[in-house]
Amino acid sequence: MRDEKARAIALLSGGLDSTLAAALTKQLGFGVVGVNFATGFCTGQGRCDTVLAAGRDLNIPVRLLDVSDEYLEVVKRPKFGYGSGMNPCLDCRIFMLKKAKAFMEEEGAEFVVTGEVLGQRPMSQHYRALKLVAEESGLGDRLVRPLSGRLLPATYPEKKGWVKREDWLDIQGRSRRRQLSLARKLGIRSFTQPAGGCCILLEKTYAARLRDAFDHLGPDRMKKEDFALLRLGRHFRISPKAKVIVGRHQTENAELSGFARGRIKLDFPDVPGPTALLEGEVSEEELLFAARIAARYADAPPAEEVRVVAFQDGVARELRVKPLSPDDPRLKKLRIG
Ligand code: SF4
Repeated sequence: MRDEKARAIALLSGGLDSTLAAALTKQLGFGVVGVNFATGFCTGQGRCDTVLAAGRDLNIPVRLLDVSDEYLEVVKRPKFGYGSGMNPCLDCRIFMLKKAKAFMEEEGAEFVVTGEVLGQRPMSQHYRALKLVAEESGLGDRLVRPLSGRLLPATYPEKKGWVKREDWLDIQGRSRRRQLSLARKLGIRSFTQPAGGCCILLEKTYAARLRDAFDHLGPDRMKKEDFALLRLGRHFRISPKAKVIVGRHQTENAELSGFARGRIKLDFPDVPGPTALLEGEVSEEELLFAARIAARYADAPPAEEVRVVAFQDGVARELRVKPLSPDDPRLKKLRIG
């Protein structure tokens, strides 16, 4: 006989699998509380809104917790290394599940459910990886993967007799066919597209910029805003100690201005042009070269000099430079990602 009051924590990512796992657990009569951890590296507009909408669809409470400060350490020094980009998937899962365990204890819940599917992701969801994260997170048999539960060792709710083996599903592999059909059956509509990557660390451009920053600045010197800045603009490494970031559109120019403190900001007072930021140790020659790179993206005649204002520590300086030609091979060579 199941204890009707047993509660579970469901890790919700906004994706279909985690929502289904929570729905199945609820269907079995458990009280479910959803939780989502914001790492600062999530992609997809409105992911948090989707998580909240999924909570409403399932009629369960959802907590959104910001873990972005602590998560930086996971990205800087993953024990189990990176995947195809700079995604430390195993360490990431272990970190999230440790957080989920703490939340489970706080809430007086009995176990944690995730939407992990056996064999779905090469790095973090093969059999040994699932076992490893269960052990390393300290959850052990209190970590339940309802979508693949029939294919995995018995977990706490099964050992307690609250569920039977057949109550869980036996989904494995990369196909989402069964999940989509189940979602239709259960009336689940609020989820982000299954194919979308869940974090920016997977993206080629971001990963290249992060590698460059680790190489030149070093992980220990990188602050939270340095990671955020890697998302914006075009990045050019102009020397081992200096980098210029050039805005790609108006919104980005405004966002870059928010990072101007401690950097040199370049603006174009006479023509429509990008905002650019220079960071690191910059010589006079490099400042002029950076201004030429930024001027390449301004709406200015290519052969004529253009006025650029460089702001640093509240002091403005006027420069005059000729834009770099769009064909200049250095643009391609110095661009990161
Ligand atoms: S893709 Fe990103 S968010 Fe997803 S498990 Fe890997 S590191 Fe974590």
